[in-house]
Amino acid sequence: MIEVSHLTRRFGAHLAVDDVSFSMEAGEVCGLLGPNGAGKTTVMRILTGYLPATRGSIRVEGFDVLRQSMEVRRRIGYLPENVPLYREHRVEEMLRFQGRLHGMSRGDIKSRSAEVLHRVGLTERRRSTVGALSRGLRQRAGLAVALLPNPKVLVLDEPTSGLDPIQRIEVRKLVEELASEHTVLISSHILAEVEAVCPKVVILNKGRVAANGTLTELEGQLGGERFVRFEAVVGDAEAARGQLASLPGVDRVELGDKVGIHQGFRLFGAGDLREDVGALAMMRQWAVRELSYEAPSLERIFASIALGEEGTPAAAPKPASAAPSAPAAPSESGGLQLDVSEASAAPAAEQPKPSARTLNPFENFGGGA
Ligand code: ATP
Repeated sequence: MIEVSHLTRRFGAHLAVDDVSFSMEAGEVCGLLGPNGAGKTTVMRILTGYLPATRGSIRVEGFDVLRQSMEVRRRIGYLPENVPLYREHRVEEMLRFQGRLHGMSRGDIKSRSAEVLHRVGLTERRRSTVGALSRGLRQRAGLAVALLPNPKVLVLDEPTSGLDPIQRIEVRKLVEELASEHTVLISSHILAEVEAVCPKVVILNKGRVAANGTLTELEGQLGGERFVRFEAVVGDAEAARGQLASLPGVDRVELGDKVGIHQGFRLFGAGDLREDVGALAMMRQWAVRELSYEAPSLERIFASIALGEEGTPAAAPKPASAAPSAPAAPSESGGLQLDVSEASAAPAAEQPKPSARTLNPFENFGGGA
């Protein structure tokens, strides 16, 4: 559905996006993560046809973003980080205006406007001017614009940025609903948001793909070990360790610290074994202080990539493919792809400049290049 291949974008001497490749299947929801300045917005602007790539390509349903820009735009609804709407427009006027820019018929604009306003919960405010809407409602208005032509793909750049916690929850809920009907690429640095909505993530760091895979793959392969932490008053620690080790699914039990009368244990094995450990503790009448399951979180992975030495996660395996010519295609390999190598980007053929100017309703808005 979406094939991003060796995408590179320079701003003068600055390499904002450096040989980025990833793909998305139809119906997939993918989070584009990365610290400030990682290149998320730049990738999205190239994908939506608002910025040409320096090198590399993006295809949407087989159409090239640069050469078949209108075909691609017909398939994509874009919510930029700063929603570029005329403050003087009433909400319904804004949709009429945007519908005309999309070449929609009067009848279509009318029916779709009613649908999308209902969808984003703005029906009551359709006569309000955009300038009179709160930031959260303006974000909804932006979503209404993105949804108006009924696109297959939604590209949402930091949809909850700058919202208060309640507005954030509301917008996140809306995005979750939309994710069931569209292919969605959503950028964020709010990890909980991405974890809640996106089964798959691409993590960018300094313009490069640092990690790429499903959350389970990333958590399993990059984030360290999973174990049950257990602290209790057990009497003989070694005997208790033996009893814990004999529980079904337990591979090994490590003895932890003894704090006061409480002995610590770490149980490794088949996932979350807390129920069995709890049952054993009850049977043995051990007074329990702690029983928790520790799994690597996306937050830890992200932090190690964003804050680690030159973006290298501590527990990172060798890149699946360090060859710069091999495109990262998780859907093809079905597995995690990690590239934190310093491999230089292979030179790719220069893309020709777009031959004709295309209609850009957001031109001159939102800090264009
Ligand atoms: P944020 O999370 O802060 O929005 P981001 O991951 O979206 O960051 P981008 O906005 O894509 O990052 O920027 C990537 C890099 O490219 C940054 O160093 C930024 O300063 C630079 N950059 C982006 N747009 C331009 C531009 N129009 N001119 C010059 N440099 C730019």
